[in-house]
Amino acid sequence: MGNLSGMIDIEAYAKQALEKIKREGRYRIFAELERNRGNFPKAKMYMDDKKKEVTIWCSNDYLGMGQHPKVISAMHQALDRYGAGAGGTRNISGTTHAHVLLEKEIADLHAKEAALLFSSGYVSNWAALSCLGSHLDNVVILSDAGNHASMIEGIRHSKCKKIIWKHNDPEDLGKKLEECDPKQPKIIAFESIYSMSGDIAPIAEICDLAEKHGAMTYLDEVHAVGMYGPRGGGVAEREGLMDRITVIEGTLGKAFGVMGGYIASSNNICDFIRSFSSGFIFTTALPPAVVAGATASIQHLKMSNMERTEHKARVNQVRSKLNEIGIPHLENEGHIVPIVVKDPVKCKFISDSLLDHYGIYIQPINYPTVPKGTERLRITPSGVHTKSDIEHLGRALNDLWSQCALSRIAA
Ligand code: PLP
Repeated sequence: MGNLSGMIDIEAYAKQALEKIKREGRYRIFAELERNRGNFPKAKMYMDDKKKEVTIWCSNDYLGMGQHPKVISAMHQALDRYGAGAGGTRNISGTTHAHVLLEKEIADLHAKEAALLFSSGYVSNWAALSCLGSHLDNVVILSDAGNHASMIEGIRHSKCKKIIWKHNDPEDLGKKLEECDPKQPKIIAFESIYSMSGDIAPIAEICDLAEKHGAMTYLDEVHAVGMYGPRGGGVAEREGLMDRITVIEGTLGKAFGVMGGYIASSNNICDFIRSFSSGFIFTTALPPAVVAGATASIQHLKMSNMERTEHKARVNQVRSKLNEIGIPHLENEGHIVPIVVKDPVKCKFISDSLLDHYGIYIQPINYPTVPKGTERLRITPSGVHTKSDIEHLGRALNDLWSQCALSRIAA
């Protein structure tokens, strides 16, 4: 769109683009929440000039570690000891003792030689993949079709050759590897648990293919770290496969309940990315208090299985409730429970009604986060939801499913 002078009328453009997504029912409205320490998954929600209590059913703080006394105490102590910010990039005065300790903790979690911290999981994927893709001569990255935007953007930014293989399909990956030049360096990039569908990758089969074709493996364990494996090292730990993965990437912001991202790999690979990646070099380091909180969270979840056990029980209870009332949900062996509504307007209507009439917060997931026609409510039970929270959720969904005349599965 342009005006007579050839300049873009950005105001008009923005207004029109926003009107379009509103008509399509995929305009995003954020819920303004106030989480109260010790009261999760309940929170206060700001609506106009009122506050209302809601139950959160869509948080990625899966284990409630964002409220854990050890994490909060570590953050308080670090804040009092070190002050607020890191004071610069890691190169220029931002590396503190706390950062070094956390990297050691992460390397140990994944049984790797080293780890490298980033400001978020998004940045770690973007920075590591763009660095590898742009520096390794003639490299091709084979990327699962369901990969997260942070991986896609990192690969795109690297300008290296990219091949997309069918989601979680080792047969298709195998065919695509056969078609590559055997001498060409290859990276297979995939996730262990896919966030929007909750399904789990066949990691062992992918590693077999990688070894057969001399490819390196890059595994995003963002939704799995803290959650799976005897020490919370993720699905690769649970399946005894960590040593077969070249780079494991994770977040400190979901099950660990704080913020930040990382990669864990060999000394050389971490040092290479530390030295060449702009997404690591040119940005202020994480605040020491955040780093100390994440360290406490990882340390706790390495030793304690209680949170994982409680969480698993709650996920099973939610699934049973949905089966009982016939609400279709995607089956997976993970912890994410997606209810696919397949209609952006109905999806938003259900989400709004849950909030307005039942005090339940579940954000609708629409395009471009998921493909059009697969709009969904993504339920993430936590270990701290109660039996009565689950009953209330079931009653609310049951009512709204009938109101929207959506089909059911046989109970
Ligand atoms: N990778 C996956 C698969 C994700 O789902 C997300 C975020 O939701 C990220 C990476 C980014 O992690 P972070 O939220 O720490 O930036």
